[in-house]
Amino acid sequence: MKLPLLAGAATRVGVAAALSALSCLPVAAQGVDYSKLEIKTTDLGRGVYLLGWRGGDSLILVGDDGVLLVDTSVARMGDKITAAIAKVSNKPIKLIINTHAHADHFGANEALAKGGATIVANDKLRERMANGFTAFNQAIPPSPPAALPMVTYADAMTIHFDGETVQLFHPPNAHTDSDTLVHFKRANVIHASGTIGGDGGYPFFDMGSGGSLAGMIVAEEKMLSLADDKTRIVADEGEPASPETLKASRHMLVTLRGRVQRLIEEGKSEDQAVAAKPTRDFDAKWVHQGNFVTGDAMTRLAYQSLTRVTPPTTPRR
Ligand SMILES: [Zn+2]
Repeated sequence: MKLPLLAGAATRVGVAAALSALSCLPVAAQGVDYSKLEIKTTDLGRGVYLLGWRGGDSLILVGDDGVLLVDTSVARMGDKITAAIAKVSNKPIKLIINTHAHADHFGANEALAKGGATIVANDKLRERMANGFTAFNQAIPPSPPAALPMVTYADAMTIHFDGETVQLFHPPNAHTDSDTLVHFKRANVIHASGTIGGDGGYPFFDMGSGGSLAGMIVAEEKMLSLADDKTRIVADEGEPASPETLKASRHMLVTLRGRVQRLIEEGKSEDQAVAAKPTRDFDAKWVHQGNFVTGDAMTRLAYQSLTRVTPPTTPRR
């Protein structure tokens, strides 16, 4: 697999450094001290809580039926997720939904499902977990059978749980090729499966895992179609985003796609496209300190994604 951003050697060094700060990584590679991480629980109303640890943040829905958990974080965070759930519910975990095949979203599946929870995910996620895969240049071995989703779906699924209607949608080739958008209709909360940037930063798509710029735009449009002006959209980390932020993100991605596509059609190389600074007027809003997705990185991602989907007969740079 290739790292998401590949250009010259200098860029590669930058990317390696940047990826080490990326939360949505198979975080075992990052040397994170999980003993120091604390989960911040935020009540989003109607029985839905955000469990945030600035990684692959989880959501729970609690009620008389038990607990529905969206994403299990990494294996070493499993005990902390269990403890955080115990603070708001004494019921067992009945259902687990994994949003996508990055290890900080399914790592503690086996431990958290051993009480009898049913794991649900997109077909592609199970396939990746069962066979093992590579993400961010790190090999993820095949998962044990007890960690695998036992219920999978292709395009959409609806779960009725404790009075809530939980709708699952699969946007093809968005953040990855295994994404599930999770919409809690009554609570008016959507888990974005990494298709919106954390803390209002540039969003990231993992082309090595089947993600694409076009798919990100479709995913954001899907979430906009589900949202009203009070919807909370949960990214991988940080405070939930507002519909305004989601609209702005979609506008930024569509504008960037148009600009980079034009540069490609003008015959510009990837480095020339970066030098043209097509993100210049977006960077002040979308580049955040500590976020590895800079304007230049965003341009490279867009360029690579758009040239990958160009028909092979079209001349490339
Ligand atoms: Zn991810």
